[in-house]
Amino acid sequence: MWPLFHGRGAPKWQLWLEAVQTAVRIRDVARAAHHHGARLRWFDFDEVKNGVTPSGGEPFLRPLNSVELTKRHALRKLGALRFLALSVANRESLVFLAPETDVDSPVVFAADSALACGGVPGSGRTLALTAPHHGSEANKAAYTTVSRATANVVWVRSDGNYKKRPGPAFLGEKSRVCTLCRGGGASKQTVRLDDTPSGWTLAPGVRGCNCE
Ligand SMILES: [Zn+2]
Repeated sequence: MWPLFHGRGAPKWQLWLEAVQTAVRIRDVARAAHHHGARLRWFDFDEVKNGVTPSGGEPFLRPLNSVELTKRHALRKLGALRFLALSVANRESLVFLAPETDVDSPVVFAADSALACGGVPGSGRTLALTAPHHGSEANKAAYTTVSRATANVVWVRSDGNYKKRPGPAFLGEKSRVCTLCRGGGASKQTVRLDDTPSGWTLAPGVRGCNCE
C-alpha cells in the first residue's frame, strides 16, 4: 500500500479514496470474470522484489516480475485486508513474456512497468514489446533495459489522443508502431504483426509510427 503515498501531491485522504475506488473496480472485474467461469489467478510483485525468482503462469506466458500465488500462498496471504493491498502503482505492473519457441517469436507485455525487473530475453529474432504506459516518458528506463538485452525490437503502442505521449524515449526507437499516432491526422489503426523466421514485422498495410 505504501507506494500510494510517494510522489503524489494529493492529500492522503484522497489517495486512500482512490485506492479504495481502484480496489472496488478490481473486485468488479474479478467478480465478472468469475461469473463467466474464468479461472482467477493471483500474482505477487513483492516476492520478486525481495529476491524470489519469478514463477507460475503457463509455458506460453510467464511472469517476469511476479510469483503466481498457489493455494498454499493464498491461504497464508490473501486475507481480507490483503485485497486492499492490490497495487495501483504503475511500476508494480505485472510483466509477462510469451517466450520464443521453434515456431513463435517472443513477445513482452510490459503493461505500465519500467521493466526494472529485467528478464527481457535476448533473441536472434525481432522481439515485440508493448510500449509501457502508452510510451510515457516516465517509463523511459524500459527502453534502456531492452536495448541492453537485444537490438532487434518492435515497440507497439496503443493510446488515445494525448499531447504528452509518447515521450522522447519511445520516439528514439527505430522500430515502432502506434494504434493512433499523435498529430498528423492519420486515423486509428489496428496494429497487426507478422511472425517471420527473423521475428516480428509489421503486416502489409500497417503504418509505422509517425508521431509528431
Ligand atoms: Zn506513433
